[in-house]
Amino acid sequence: MMFVRLFITHWLVALVALVALLAFAEWLAPRFYRSHLEQMMTLMGSQSLELRSDLERGLRSTLTTAWLASLPLAGLLAGLMAWLASRRISQSVRQLAQGSRAIALGQYQNRLKVQGDDELASLAQDFNRMTEALEKVEQHRTELLSSVAHELRTPLSALQGYSEALADGVLPPEQAAAHIEREVRAMGRLIDDLALVSRIEAQAVELHPQVVAVEAAFQEALERYATAFEACGVALKLNPLPSSVALWADPLRLQQVLSNLLSNALRYTPAGGEVVLSASLQSHHVRICVCDTGVGIPLEHQPRIFERFYRADPARSRHTGGSGVGLTIAKGLVEAMGGQMGFESEVGKGSCFWFTLPRA
Ligand code: ADP
Repeated sequence: MMFVRLFITHWLVALVALVALLAFAEWLAPRFYRSHLEQMMTLMGSQSLELRSDLERGLRSTLTTAWLASLPLAGLLAGLMAWLASRRISQSVRQLAQGSRAIALGQYQNRLKVQGDDELASLAQDFNRMTEALEKVEQHRTELLSSVAHELRTPLSALQGYSEALADGVLPPEQAAAHIEREVRAMGRLIDDLALVSRIEAQAVELHPQVVAVEAAFQEALERYATAFEACGVALKLNPLPSSVALWADPLRLQQVLSNLLSNALRYTPAGGEVVLSASLQSHHVRICVCDTGVGIPLEHQPRIFERFYRADPARSRHTGGSGVGLTIAKGLVEAMGGQMGFESEVGKGSCFWFTLPRA
């Protein structure tokens, strides 16, 4: 339908141009011819009216023959060009409409054919880029849903086990209640962490940055973790700090990052090991390191360690109680506060997680 309308419009435009050309030529040609005729007759010294009207008739019949021969051909050519142009536009629009329908149906894998390098081609390219982005979002969503379902299944089956044991009288009520409470707390933590991850990914974390003294922040973290480290037989040390270093950060979020790194260090460092907290100055940032003498991260897992729910050793990590998003959250928060995060690790020797934050 659109093709027919485009074709007729294009063709009509070309025909109007042809008719205008004809009208101008009809108007101008006899005038030019007559002035030329006058000059020729004067040169020849002839005043014959008969010769003059004969030559004018000759022009008339030449023009008519030329028009009759060329107009249908020009009309056909205009039709051909109109057909080609209309087909190109209507094909692109049809392609776009098909692509949009596929997206509306949730099919993101199709890509449009890009022809030429005009506006229609760049529209098709933009459309493909949009489809690619939507495909990634959809993939992301599906992965997230299946990970969440998987993560929730573990505490849920534990809860089911404890409640059955309680019903069968296999577990004393106090013991069952303690287990159930622990699992419920783990689920609550997981849900809070997930909500934070989604806010980080949507770049919607609320931050209240202010000047934070590194020493005070480290002391707060050490106090919070001293008992847990002692209980596990892991030494927690603080390297001497460069004098009066201050950061520009949200103090609560900074504590959350330190907590995630310290709890990981504790989780993956066997008794007898040690964890050292240190800070160093860079030109515009402060670099903070949490180094442990723990199990280390195998090389093949290192590139994916900051991904949501990625665990180097799933059985061990799940058993030791992490929600699997600790590093995702820590990195997201550091980046939201204008810093970067990374690590170095060697199996059997330990890991050093570092992050930078702007200096106050
Ligand atoms: P989890 O809650 O499982 O600890 P994280 O996102 O905090 O999740 O960490 C992801 C994975 O990175 C962990 O499962 C573990 O395999 C690895 N990891 C993190 N920190 C350390 C560390 N200090 N030493 C060794 N492995 C670590």
